Amino acid sequence: MYFNAHTHLHEEVNHEVYNLYVEEEICANFSIGIHPWNASEGLKILPFIENYVQKKECVAIGETGLDRIQGPDLAVQEWLFRKHIELSETYQLPVIVHCVRCWNELKMIHRELNPTQYWVYHGISKANLINEILHEGFILSIGANVLTNEKLQAAIKQIPFDQLLLETDDSLVPIENIYHKIAELKGIPVIALQEKIASTFKRIFSKWNNG
Ligand SMILES: [Zn+2]
Repeated sequence: MYFNAHTHLHEEVNHEVYNLYVEEEICANFSIGIHPWNASEGLKILPFIENYVQKKECVAIGETGLDRIQGPDLAVQEWLFRKHIELSETYQLPVIVHCVRCWNELKMIHRELNPTQYWVYHGISKANLINEILHEGFILSIGANVLTNEKLQAAIKQIPFDQLLLETDDSLVPIENIYHKIAELKGIPVIALQEKIASTFKRIFSKWNNG
């Protein structure tokens, strides 16, 4: 199986964590949160989020996070992000984190809150941050940009399998292509990579259910 840690495109396969939107119908193995770009609506949507979080099909919080380029003022985003972390701790669910040019802020919040739940740093593109993010204890989820980003390709070897997940996010690239690229970069057969990712995936998304 090609486990997909984060996708916005529902393919009705049961080996993915689908990023559900409020008002969408619940499906197996979804995550729910308010994207930092939409943080202004946070106060209005937050109570609905908590309803979704309590469903047995909810396997993660997010995506949520901080974005210096898009979305409302960072203070608004941070307030909402912290609300998501409260949900993560209360309901014991991992968090899928979106972070654009806010690594220092994210790191400081992580240190301050010292969470019991896994934080999955998704869609990383900055290879030079990888060591620090791993050292901080985050899980890294790698997406389609590994197919073209050479610095990221060169850094893949440093990521231990127990901190590595793969995802398609909003890309139309099949998840299989990302597995093949990572297997090549790691120098292992695809089947061996699938086993390692499956094991990390099931540890992080402990409520995941293959129906
Ligand atoms: Zn996403």
